[in-house]
Amino acid sequence: MDLQNQNRNLFIRSETSNEIVYKFTEVGKTLITYDDIPNWYSNNKYIYYGYRIPKSSIKSLTLSIFKIHNETFNIWTHIIGFFIFVYLYCNFTIQNINEPLSIIPICIYLFGTMLCFCGSVVMHTYYPHDKHTCNILCKLDYSGIFTLIFTGYLCFIHYEFFCYPTLQIIYNIILSIVGICILFLICNRNKLLRSLSFLSFGLSSFVPIIHKKIFLKDSSEALIKKSGEVLIYILSTLIVCIIGIIFYILRVPERIHRDFFNIVLSSHSLFHICTIIAAYIYYTAMVELYEYYNKYDCDV
Ligand SMILES: [Zn+2]
Repeated sequence: MDLQNQNRNLFIRSETSNEIVYKFTEVGKTLITYDDIPNWYSNNKYIYYGYRIPKSSIKSLTLSIFKIHNETFNIWTHIIGFFIFVYLYCNFTIQNINEPLSIIPICIYLFGTMLCFCGSVVMHTYYPHDKHTCNILCKLDYSGIFTLIFTGYLCFIHYEFFCYPTLQIIYNIILSIVGICILFLICNRNKLLRSLSFLSFGLSSFVPIIHKKIFLKDSSEALIKKSGEVLIYILSTLIVCIIGIIFYILRVPERIHRDFFNIVLSSHSLFHICTIIAAYIYYTAMVELYEYYNKYDCDV
């Protein structure tokens, strides 16, 4: 109890002075508790232990990538995700570079996914630097998720409306206008509003799907079958995203037990794992569409 009070006193002074932050390290503390952090640092009271010291230097935060704290898993899940998508990018490009159908839309989606994971790694590594850095990096992180959804959408519109170039252009214009509005909403501090903005942006991808199913009846049996398969992939992507968002909003499992999930398997790490799985399932759907239209003749 005495030690807790002592730590709290050290922290109260640490918010205004770098000198006191130094005292944290002087007394041998490298990780602190939720009670010790300033308001801007975290709003997840269920993660109690394992915070890095606020106002740490860029160098010590960079080195913290290789140390154990309550962001280690968040950082490493997306570092691994980044390299998985670098591999997919190289593999897909090498295999299809000489095919007649353009690979650029899938490459843009894979690049968007890599950017998203990269932004996330930077945010989770450096946000304890100071309040201003934290605010900027959080917006970078949200913009990364937006980039992932936006580039995925662009890719889907390109292949799904491959035989309807005018509709491709119309949907791309609508997507850009809606995207700009969503970008403003996702930078909101309200977690629920932000999550709902991402979710509604993702769900809106069903508008072109329904449009095509009802008004542009596919001529061939094979295309109807392929559209059905791709729809299942896209539905699976959405289900995995919703599961991730549920972890993120409800802060489960750390809400159930405060001490077990400080370092591993916190709701945010599970949300990261869901984003990687969802991005991979979506990539598979885009490759299915690509392979189909690569051999398809729109004039037949
Ligand atoms: Zn994250």
